[in-house]
Amino acid sequence: MSYRLVCGIETHIELATATKIFCGCATAFGGQPNTRCCPVCTGQPGSLPVLNRRVVEYAIRAGLAVNCTINEVASLDRKNYFYPDLPKAYQISQYDRPICENGCIALDGGKRIRIKRIHIEEDAGKLIHIGGRTLVDYNRCGVPLIEVVTEPDIETPAQAGEYIEKLQAIMRAIGISDCRMQEGSLRCDVNVSVGGEGISSARTEIKNMNSVSQIVRAIEYEYSRQLSVIEGGGRVERATLRFDERTGSTVVMRGKEDSGDYRYFPEPDLPAVLIPRELVAEISACLPELPAARAERYVKELGMDEANARLICRYNAVAVFAERVFSLGADVRTATNLIVGTLYSLLSTEDEREKFDIFVTAEDFAELAELVAGGKIGVTLAQMTLTEMVSSRRPLADFRGRLEGMDENQLEDLCRKAIECNPRAVDDFLSGKEKALSGLFGFIKKQSQGRADIREAERVLRRLLKEKQ
Ligand code: ZN
Ligand code: MN
Repeated sequence: MSYRLVCGIETHIELATATKIFCGCATAFGGQPNTRCCPVCTGQPGSLPVLNRRVVEYAIRAGLAVNCTINEVASLDRKNYFYPDLPKAYQISQYDRPICENGCIALDGGKRIRIKRIHIEEDAGKLIHIGGRTLVDYNRCGVPLIEVVTEPDIETPAQAGEYIEKLQAIMRAIGISDCRMQEGSLRCDVNVSVGGEGISSARTEIKNMNSVSQIVRAIEYEYSRQLSVIEGGGRVERATLRFDERTGSTVVMRGKEDSGDYRYFPEPDLPAVLIPRELVAEISACLPELPAARAERYVKELGMDEANARLICRYNAVAVFAERVFSLGADVRTATNLIVGTLYSLLSTEDEREKFDIFVTAEDFAELAELVAGGKIGVTLAQMTLTEMVSSRRPLADFRGRLEGMDENQLEDLCRKAIECNPRAVDDFLSGKEKALSGLFGFIKKQSQGRADIREAERVLRRLLKEKQ
């Protein structure tokens, strides 16, 4: 019997509109609890919602970016349930007529993850658990969301991770959300079941995850848990789960509900949303170049290798910076290596890379890359200088002295000094230990503060040492 993973993902993305979906309250993250809400977003008697036009436009933009059809008529519906973070006891969402349907996102290997639909809805408030008590903050009530729902096309945990990263990069590129998983502006619910010939197994849903690594681990765990239930002759029960980071396992929150349980019905306070084709065409015409297309262009036009092109285009801010550097005429290969090698090792988190606050101008960066490409300085010196520019926030001009390199005489003096000060290494080298040279390189790098070209230094050192033999 062969089994396989069947997985679909629902992603909630907070839209970066200035105001909420049905009222004029601010959406900004943070703020004193319960200061950014009003009778509408808390569902007080007598209040009426008004749909924020920008939310519809953002949803259309999202849909077009992932190849969806945009419906001409969409409707808003009430999804009824009680929870303390939802004062109205219903969420305004979309049931059978979402704004977008039938899209897809292609993964690097060519595999397509179909997008079933994208709908708009309002977010709920936030519960804060402190010392056995629970407080509630309604600032997030009514913050606009899109929910992106895939078909169950994901076959491995790694595909799930890649899908989320692709979705995140696309949504950031079109500017509708910052998609910060840590701040909760992108959250995923993952459906997992076991497939295979003759198997019809229930699926479970793991709720509210907010990091890619967490999602990958949760799917791995849940799939193997279901497999062991099935192989043990048992039956997987439908359930809503949460992933416990500490134990690395899934925990049952409640039995899984059906959409029927929510008693969806058309929202009586809001008319159907009519989406004129001209509006769709207008939004489509204004879409920026998307990450996949951009990466492809880098490969074709700039001769960049595919892996690096993807790494750069994954973060909008990085791609914008790289593009400026290339337009200044910098050597593509050198500049790319400095970005993917040096800058990415300095900016190790997703967040840092997306923000890309490096305090280095494209002009300085291009000049540094040119010094390397033109053979004026070595790569090591460029990397070191770039690292210091980033950490000290100083411009390239402050490092000129170092970047002038050393002339032949200076280098020879330094090599003589290295030989003088390291008699043990010299003896070792002369008695046949090639490796001993590295001790001398270390000395030269340190003394010259990186100015010395090590390949040149090696040539001089070998000549001087030969004279000694
Ligand atoms: Zn409000
Ligand atoms: Mn939802």
